[in-house]
Amino acid sequence: MENSTRNKENLTFQAEVSKLLDLVANSLYSEREIFLRELISNSADACEKLRYLALSKKNILGESKILEIKIKVSKKRKIIEIEDNGIGMSRQDLIDNLGTIARSGTNKFIESIKSKKTNDISAIGQFGVGFYSSYMVADTVAVHSKNVENDSSHLWISNGKDNYTIEELKKEDRGTKISLNIKKDSEEFLDSMRLRSIISKYSNYIPFPIYLKDLDTKDKEEKINEGNPLWLKDKKDIKKEDYKQFYNNISFNFDEPLKTIHFNAEGVINYKALLYLPTNQPMDLFNSERKNKIKLYVQKVFITDECDEIMPNWLRFVPGVVDSQDISLNISREMLQNNPVIDKIKKGITNKVLNEINTLSTKDNKKFLDFWKNFGAVIKEGLYEFNDHHEKLLSLLRFENSYSNNSMSLDDYVKNMTKDQKEIYYFANTDKEHIKNSPQLEAFVEKKIPVLFMTDAVDEFWLQNIRKYKEFEFKSISKGKVDISNLGIKQKDKKESNKKINNKINDLTSLLKKELKDKISDVIISGRLVKSPVLLVAEESGMDINMEKLMKMHNQKTPESKKVLEINAEHPMIIKISENLNNFDHKKVSQIILDQANILDGNILSNPSSYMENLTDLFIK
Ligand code: ADP
Repeated sequence: MENSTRNKENLTFQAEVSKLLDLVANSLYSEREIFLRELISNSADACEKLRYLALSKKNILGESKILEIKIKVSKKRKIIEIEDNGIGMSRQDLIDNLGTIARSGTNKFIESIKSKKTNDISAIGQFGVGFYSSYMVADTVAVHSKNVENDSSHLWISNGKDNYTIEELKKEDRGTKISLNIKKDSEEFLDSMRLRSIISKYSNYIPFPIYLKDLDTKDKEEKINEGNPLWLKDKKDIKKEDYKQFYNNISFNFDEPLKTIHFNAEGVINYKALLYLPTNQPMDLFNSERKNKIKLYVQKVFITDECDEIMPNWLRFVPGVVDSQDISLNISREMLQNNPVIDKIKKGITNKVLNEINTLSTKDNKKFLDFWKNFGAVIKEGLYEFNDHHEKLLSLLRFENSYSNNSMSLDDYVKNMTKDQKEIYYFANTDKEHIKNSPQLEAFVEKKIPVLFMTDAVDEFWLQNIRKYKEFEFKSISKGKVDISNLGIKQKDKKESNKKINNKINDLTSLLKKELKDKISDVIISGRLVKSPVLLVAEESGMDINMEKLMKMHNQKTPESKKVLEINAEHPMIIKISENLNNFDHKKVSQIILDQANILDGNILSNPSSYMENLTDLFIK
């Protein structure tokens, strides 16, 4: 140690790391025991990485061919050590992995903890910051590591405040030893029985042996975990708790799995798969960096958990394991791309998962709707890309709607269509209340013609791709001309009175066309308004109004498209204006009508004070 201090370096943590450490160390989180799960999981990853490397570099394992994890504890010395003979870390690895956080997930994690105020940091592993959880129980952590391909080894030490030190220090064997100096308030973890139960609770199916040794006794070290890959076992020998623990281990979700899908595929390609549908929505589901959660094994040897091709991104919430003997053990990660075997497996597991979801939807509607609420928006992304699963996906869709309080599938919709209806009507807007209160919906509700509420942002996108369900086209009711006068319950016969006002209404439309010609493309008499006087709609060929808003929100440049103004010829205000046109200032009254249409559409007026002035003028006249 003495002469090593010469090259001791003092370094500061990246600001985000300090923030996180502060949060972790001071959290009142009750399940502090998860620190051990996190450290064991890191050790197991390090062993898997080395085993993978050894496939291409034959002699790299040297003498110690058995990869294992050893945990030592001493009450007297107040320490816990976690040691593995995995791949190890170089000096630079220590700095990069333990001193900085490359992932943007961390800030999100910090924010989510702060906003929840619950101190629930059990999801820490989802954000790739598991190592820092050791500061929940330790005041100082030392990491002594030797990378398998380096001769030198290094010691990293930090008290989890702002700084850490690194120095070169001899370590005989490759791998990593993490030593925790246990804090006074965490001494319960120095009890070896307690550690034993934590290991079997969280880490039973880690595929490397985990040994525990109490340094204060003469007892021999003891192997704690079961270790055999669960997915290779016979289904009938697996208990529900085993499945759950394995799920928690691989996914870093801590709920009960909603469904466990364990199967053996035999045929052209053989593989075993153990997949899960989660109950709850993982926090990072919509994080753009989130990839699928499938680990790929070849005959028990871990190959990668970064095979994008094995599961479609729109099933990225499905964690699990796929093990196939039909992939060569020597496959490189690059070779996994455009690989026909992987393609076949992808097809197989995707179909299997979709079938299971479909079964859930037919057998247990309530459970399915909860599931749909959590994952529907992700699954819909599958309709936006080209693939073979559209039919299955379409049958899973569920929508809130104008027709009933129950959510509706597309088949339900078709069943409830009115006579002669040829299109599936929808209204897309992420604000459900806006849809419910919008003038566009009025006539549909009155005539009992169902309208689907498309409330996920992704709806606008898949609708561009999937234009039809069965023989019925999807039709936005906020775009173009929607003529439903011949559908559903007929409105009272108003022809007589209509005739009388027709001429005057025509005068009003001509006037509006003239006065507003720079702002709108056309003025028409509406066939769908009931209560509201006016309505703005996108032109048939133009972009859907909500699509345009969505793109603006994402700062996308959109052509400013002119809208069509529809007026309700039966609305008392419109009638009154048209009958007294000459008593009004034409410019002002036209502008008021347009402003009102904008307000109803949820737009912000560019000149609200002029609207107020015009309105006031009208009143005091
Ligand atoms: P995560 O494991 O989710 O990536 P951690 O904060 O737990 O996040 O660890 C950060 C990184 O440090 C790991 O990705 C890994 O590269 C490295 N690391 C941690 N523990 C070990 C270990 N025992 N052996 C080798 N590398 C490790």
